Amino acid sequence: MSYKDLIFTSSYINGEWKQIGQKKFSVINPFNQKEIVQVDDGGAEAIKKAIDSAQSAFPKWRDLLAKERSEILEKWYDLIQQHKSEIATIMTLESGKPINESKGEVDYAASFAKWFAEEAKRVYGDIIPTHAHKKRIAVLKQPIGVVGAITPWNFPLAMITRKVSPALAAGCTVVIKPTKESPLCALLLAHLAQKAGFPAGVLNIAVGSNSKEMGKALCESPLVKKISFTGSTEVGKALMAQSSQTLKKMSLELGGNAPFIVFEDADVDLAVKGAIAAKFRNSGQTCVCVNRFLIHQDIYDQFSEKLLKEIQKLKMGNGLESENHIGPLINSKAVEKVKSLIQDAKEKGAKIIYGGNNLEGNFFEPTLITNANSDMQFSNEEIFGPVAALYKFKSLEQALDMANDTIYGLAAYFYSKDINRCWKVSEELEYGMVGINTGLISTEVAPFGGIKASGMGREGSKYGIEEYLEIKYLCYGNIQ
Ligand code: NAP
Repeated sequence: MSYKDLIFTSSYINGEWKQIGQKKFSVINPFNQKEIVQVDDGGAEAIKKAIDSAQSAFPKWRDLLAKERSEILEKWYDLIQQHKSEIATIMTLESGKPINESKGEVDYAASFAKWFAEEAKRVYGDIIPTHAHKKRIAVLKQPIGVVGAITPWNFPLAMITRKVSPALAAGCTVVIKPTKESPLCALLLAHLAQKAGFPAGVLNIAVGSNSKEMGKALCESPLVKKISFTGSTEVGKALMAQSSQTLKKMSLELGGNAPFIVFEDADVDLAVKGAIAAKFRNSGQTCVCVNRFLIHQDIYDQFSEKLLKEIQKLKMGNGLESENHIGPLINSKAVEKVKSLIQDAKEKGAKIIYGGNNLEGNFFEPTLITNANSDMQFSNEEIFGPVAALYKFKSLEQALDMANDTIYGLAAYFYSKDINRCWKVSEELEYGMVGINTGLISTEVAPFGGIKASGMGREGSKYGIEEYLEIKYLCYGNIQ
């Protein structure tokens, strides 16, 4: 099968591909800025139709046996895996992600379908010892209803399955609004969902270019009971405000400002390996990418020299060529942001040791910066590009102060061989996730999510399905 057989260009509503209106928008390849294909611009009308369809499908889907929902999710998992190569190609074309990483994302995305197929069968309630004679207390967990999911371009497949798999497993129906930057991965998931046997209306995808209008329609609908969003903190706050009138449950996976602390007793080679993985994945465009490297003064030069050697090995180019590690940034706006952050840092005394330039198109060189300090704009803002900035610290207390000195609280990393320090630092870091002597932390088996301005709620793991369930308590009286 060619990847072209998996390209779809309309909204998927009530089990059918639906063109709504006559408008179209272009999906652009970030590698060469050429149009890949035109997609129907469904706008708020597509969202409204998708909500109605999800609402109609909800009672039947909810009332299936958990085992029956589980079997369909398992089939979806199998189909995603079967088409790994074609899906990865489409992902690289629309997002620029290097092909090996795209294949890795297909595995990661599919893992949520499998995990929640299993979890679907384990949504247990409780029997609570009664407080009164002749009374009995039971607790049921029930699906919340129609779920709206809004997802970003940096993980165009996995951010959908990480939300939608637990929702569907719980018995909810869904309306997905993917980003206009990478709608093709979302639409092919709908095609595979249809083949897997999801009934019409259970999974709907509305595509369009006016995200503001579409998001508003989703948040303000009284039929939608829950919003699950992954994206920037700014948009997350707007969605929460828009959802306040209908008092929706919210899951918000927002931006980060990850510190990566290397203590003086760390295995420096291991830390450098972790640094490359945690900084340069997807060309630095992930929410858990390191934003600040905090390095103890005794090993600062050693770490910097070793990191430089590894950065120099990174090959940049067309994501479709498997030897490349760094692809283009998503669009010219992202390039301009990285350029301006580097300019600001230079003016405030940063040294550019390697890289620092925007090459042709959306390509930005892997970059190493030393002498970074907290006045620089990128110490408070996500870089979202392949730029490693090194800060120096003298003591554990100073490292913790620097690490926690941010509004964000998504992921943090640190390296040390001292078990006492490992516990203390883990407990004191104000983050939802902490990597200790590792730069890779994402897996379907662990709870992913942040605190502070990085959001609320958890995705993946046994906790992930709870976000889509309501608790109902039953009080039986007059039991003889
Ligand atoms: P974004 O601008 O917030 O967009 C995310 C999604 O929201 C897209 O579907 C976008 O649609 C939509 N959107 C934008 N403005 C909207 C509005 N006013 N109302 C409703 N929807 C709106 O974020 P991004 O730049 O695509 O993604 C990068 C951000 O996501 C970073 O901050 C990153 O840290 C975060 N992220 C977080 C996690 C996590 O798990 N915590 C994971 C991945 C990414 P359009 O693109 O079509 O406008």
